[in-house]
Amino acid sequence: MGAPYTSELAAAIAPDLLARFERYVRIDTQSARERTRSPSTPGQLDLARLLVQELTEAGVTDAALDDNGYVTGSIPGNAGNGRAIGLLAHMDTSPDAPGAGVKPIVHADYNGEVIELPVGGTRLDPAAMPELLAKRGHDIVTASGDTLLGADDKAGVAEIVAAIAHLAAHPELPRPTLRIAFTPDEEIGEGATLFDIERFGAFCAYTMDGSDLGELQDETFSADEVIATIRGVDVHPGHATGKLVSALRLAAEVVAELPSDRLTPDTTSGRDGFIHPYSLHGTAAEAEIRAIVRDFDEQRLAEHVALFERTARAVVGRAPRATLDVVVHRQYRNMREYLEPVSFITDAAEAAILAEGVTPVRAPIRGGTDGSRLSEMGLPTPNIFAGGHEFHSVREWASLQDMAAAAATIVRLAEVWTREGWAESAAAGSAPAVR
Ligand SMILES: [Zn+2]
Repeated sequence: MGAPYTSELAAAIAPDLLARFERYVRIDTQSARERTRSPSTPGQLDLARLLVQELTEAGVTDAALDDNGYVTGSIPGNAGNGRAIGLLAHMDTSPDAPGAGVKPIVHADYNGEVIELPVGGTRLDPAAMPELLAKRGHDIVTASGDTLLGADDKAGVAEIVAAIAHLAAHPELPRPTLRIAFTPDEEIGEGATLFDIERFGAFCAYTMDGSDLGELQDETFSADEVIATIRGVDVHPGHATGKLVSALRLAAEVVAELPSDRLTPDTTSGRDGFIHPYSLHGTAAEAEIRAIVRDFDEQRLAEHVALFERTARAVVGRAPRATLDVVVHRQYRNMREYLEPVSFITDAAEAAILAEGVTPVRAPIRGGTDGSRLSEMGLPTPNIFAGGHEFHSVREWASLQDMAAAAATIVRLAEVWTREGWAESAAAGSAPAVR
């Protein structure tokens, strides 16, 4: 009994897809939060150059790497109305787990038991991971225990290259013009920053950056970052009576006074947002609190930001000689607002997932994607599953069968966009008359 592929197409693409994925994850493309240029780290350019080469070998004649580390390319359509559809994935991996020296391991025909990785005592226990237990019989790819795998998002990168190679080798398969882009620095929130939508020239796009089989997302968090800087009065502690005002102590009080039984990442789920202080550092003289604030609703997001600021002002207000500065950075907005009026774009992905024989799973993402900002910038970009799990950790894993299903979904998506209803919608910018 062979591994459970979702279709013959997926099974046909799988060997090429796996070979590419194993090549890509070995390259260290971890991005860095302190960014002075794009991309933030040179390893991303190593992968970018390899991708230009592989796209070219696959038959993409205009594959190119730009000065900011974005890889683009296209294959011409043979049907549809001439408008191009974009396919996106990000090349960088998370700075939150070790990303150098990744050695992929394929656990063929997974038997449903605990997977013990060779290094660091890392275990993948299906008792704690119901998604893993559901993949019995799949070929599971992991790293070796002391690094992330990088399926986020090299699964998406490999799926796009493998699907494009398949389409290029099968010119009879219907497709609109397809534009491809691989972005740097998504994990540090900069993937869309230097993305040239005008030059990309697509009507809409899809990120291959979701997780489990069938996931399709047209809704992300709306996101702000809040930075509070407290300045105290620092004097020699031996002569401090009635003089010293400790900024560090005040900052700790601010964090302590924020709600801890609600509005936190660990006490919320579904559609509830949170305030998450993720960094606190300082001295008696000066301290800084950084918090990310998230919600699906813009009004509630503003209320969470206001609560943070009110709390900080109340605490610092009790020490009249201390000062407080609060800066709010807008990070990204829920893409639903931009995708709802053009819902046929998400519907096309749903039709493609169904054509692959997979049940679409629609749920909001408790996070953001490149599509969050691209949709706002004018390129409507929902998100499709890519087959990886336990992102940003040494337990990260991916199912080859689910990655192959994602690559096959891209081939199906190309066909959907040549259907009369969708091609017309792309021309009119409205909902299709024909479903
Ligand atoms: Zn990702």
